[in-house]
Amino acid sequence: MNRAKPIIHVVSAGGTIAGTGVSATEFTYESVELSAADLVAAVDGLDRDVEIRADTLFTVGSQDLGPVQWLKLAQHVQVLAARSDVDGIVVTHGTDTLEEAAFFLDLVCRTEKPVVLTGAMRPATALSADGPRNLYQAVVAASAPQLRGGGVMVVINGLLLPGWQVVKANSIALDAFRAYPGGPAGRFMGGTLILTETPRPAPLAGAFHGHLTKSADFPLVGIAYVHGGCGDAPIRVWHESKCKGLVIAAFGAGTMSQPIADAARDLAAEGCVVVVSSRVGEVAVHVESMTGRGRGGLLPSGFLNPQKSATLLGFALAGGQQAPEVGHLFDLFSAHPHGIAYEAAS
Ligand code: ASP
Repeated sequence: MNRAKPIIHVVSAGGTIAGTGVSATEFTYESVELSAADLVAAVDGLDRDVEIRADTLFTVGSQDLGPVQWLKLAQHVQVLAARSDVDGIVVTHGTDTLEEAAFFLDLVCRTEKPVVLTGAMRPATALSADGPRNLYQAVVAASAPQLRGGGVMVVINGLLLPGWQVVKANSIALDAFRAYPGGPAGRFMGGTLILTETPRPAPLAGAFHGHLTKSADFPLVGIAYVHGGCGDAPIRVWHESKCKGLVIAAFGAGTMSQPIADAARDLAAEGCVVVVSSRVGEVAVHVESMTGRGRGGLLPSGFLNPQKSATLLGFALAGGQQAPEVGHLFDLFSAHPHGIAYEAAS
């Protein structure tokens, strides 16, 4: 980069950060009243050290986004990243599906330039709205040369989080996000980013780049959520849907009641790719810990929660992969993100 100020492109994809409420104290708000230009204009000093460009891609809450829209977002980000007059990209996005969006972008986009997602837990009109600060810090991250080659990241509530590890862990708190299984790669002191880790791309960063040029068709992937005494009902519902892939949000480290495990194996025997994740907040499901040690066609999700497992499984199935290959993909998320290999008990 050889110019006075880095050029950062801000893409708005809706969400609470672009929302406005009827008053500064009410919880209810309209999710997407503000454009990217409005968001940028609301942050004093944002363009002091960088040149900002902005455009609005979606104007919905992220509960209404899915693979079809994320593919459009990824295509947009990739086009921006290829431009010589863009040094970094910030995506403002709703927080509800921020973790899937970040993982999705990580799996398809290929660029050395920082791609930083952010959002807000409070609408723009709220007392102590968090959006302007989050956007400011996201722009700082997107223009940081040390973050080049670090993959997709999320900046929120003063933290820099590796995109694929982002988890929303609280419905309303400002500190709703964390990185799992690692931790934050950095923290902000106002406009200063203090890196505590060397940001690294996700284990499968850019592995599904070919999907950027394909149609938006993703195979149906279900998530079956278990609860005490549920019998095999959560699986049976999906059995009838003829889905090509199913993620089970099982108990603990992948345990399942016998009816669930039997129904899951039947489904796998019929050609559905079944991944076992967990309904707990911090997921670790390995072959040794899940019900049915011998797998029986069931694939452990490693550290991926059900929604991220569904994202990866969707890509794998769209690429025509079968259970054994899909298992290898998920195995990459069983290793510690800092490279300490997971050792299976003998
Ligand atoms: N429902 C909103 C969304 O995800 C919540 C938020 O952005 O915080 O768009």
